[in-house]
Amino acid sequence: MAAQNPTIVTPDIPDDGGVFVAPPVIGVKAVQDVLDVCRAMSLWPMTFGLACCAIEMMATSMARFDISRFGAEVFRPSPRQSDLLIVAGTVTKKIAPAVVRLYQQMPAPRFVLALGNCAISGGPFKFENQYGVVEGVDELIPVDVYVPGCPPRPEALLEGLFQIQEKMTGRRWWPKPQGAVE
Ligand code: SF4
Repeated sequence: MAAQNPTIVTPDIPDDGGVFVAPPVIGVKAVQDVLDVCRAMSLWPMTFGLACCAIEMMATSMARFDISRFGAEVFRPSPRQSDLLIVAGTVTKKIAPAVVRLYQQMPAPRFVLALGNCAISGGPFKFENQYGVVEGVDELIPVDVYVPGCPPRPEALLEGLFQIQEKMTGRRWWPKPQGAVE
């Protein structure tokens, strides 16, 4: 019997894409710039993994790669305490509503990093007539940075973190690797 193509039932995201940010309490640019740097250097990622790419995310937090050098080692077990969602792994249609719900529960400003080919496009599970995998988490929630690979190495995740820090502050904070393409 042919498999039915299930529809994804997800909670609604508001018209603003779920990225509403309240106006700053102190509307002074210099103060806001300092706050942005503080925020960028102390991102709290959510403890959230979906498949094999999550192993690389775990490795990034351990001694060899040591994401704490860049201020993002405080993985929080609650979306309400997180401002960075690393979508690490395959997003199935079954888990999709939970991904959207977790994103909605994060306080703004919040950032999303799609880690690995599965989160970006469905990866090796994208083929004709597949019916179980979301072909890119950006079909569900807004994504700020994409880190390709199957799986991406921990260094690639760190580079993705640097890109998010740059997006938050308007400048790059860490040296580029030797031989990096501009
Ligand atoms: S991109 Fe590759 S390593 Fe990452 S979750 Fe998909 S299959 Fe696993």
